[in-house]
Amino acid sequence: MFYKCNFCDPSVKRGEKPIKTVNTEVDDFIKDDKGKYYHTNCFRMHLRSRKKMKDEEAIENLITERKKVQVDEIKEIRSRARFYEWIMEYYETDLPPYYCIKIDAIRKGKHEFLREQIDYDTLLDIYLHMASYLNKVAVQKQFNKVTSRMNYDLAVVIGNLGDYKRFKAKQSAQEADNITIEGKLKDSEVVRAALNRKESSESEFNITDIMDELLL
Ligand SMILES: [Zn+2]
Repeated sequence: MFYKCNFCDPSVKRGEKPIKTVNTEVDDFIKDDKGKYYHTNCFRMHLRSRKKMKDEEAIENLITERKKVQVDEIKEIRSRARFYEWIMEYYETDLPPYYCIKIDAIRKGKHEFLREQIDYDTLLDIYLHMASYLNKVAVQKQFNKVTSRMNYDLAVVIGNLGDYKRFKAKQSAQEADNITIEGKLKDSEVVRAALNRKESSESEFNITDIMDELLL
C-alpha cells in the first residue's frame, strides 16, 4: 500500500493526483495516533521541527511505542482473518452479520454474558478443542439453519471458557514441570560426564570443568 508521507510529500491541489511515497511493503514507516503516515525518519524530523521535541530519547521512545502499536494492529488483523477463515470452512458458509457482531462484542469485552475480552487466537483455540464435540451435538440437534447452529455453538464455546482456562493453566504448569525435570536430567548427565572424566584423568580434573559445563 502507498500512503502520503505527512512530512515530505507535498499536498496537491484538488483534482491533481496525490503524491504518496510511503510504501508499506518496503519502507520503514510510522502511522501516528491520528492515522497519518510518515517515513520513520520523516516522523523523527516532524517531531523535532513541527512538534518542537528536543529530547532525542523521548523521540526514539515515541517511535518505538508507535511501532509496537503497529505490530499489535497487524497481529490483530491476522488473528481475526485466521479465525474467520476457520469459521467459514468449518460451517461451510459465509459470515452471518449477526454472528460477527457477537464475535466483535466478545473481542471487546462487551458481550451480554461476558465481561472480559477474549482475543481471536483464544477463541479459535477453544473452537479447535471443541470442534468434534460440536459436530456431534449438531447431529443430535438437527439445526434447521447454519446460523442457528453457529449461535448455539458460540454459546457453548463461551460457556466453556472457564474450563478452557483451567485446562490451559494445568497444561502450562505441566510444561513448566517437564522443563524442570529435563533441566535436572541434563544437569545430572553433565555432572556424571564430568565425574567420568575425573576417573579417567584424575590428575587433570578440576571442579571448574563441571561448573563450566553446568553454566552452558
Ligand atoms: Zn517522508
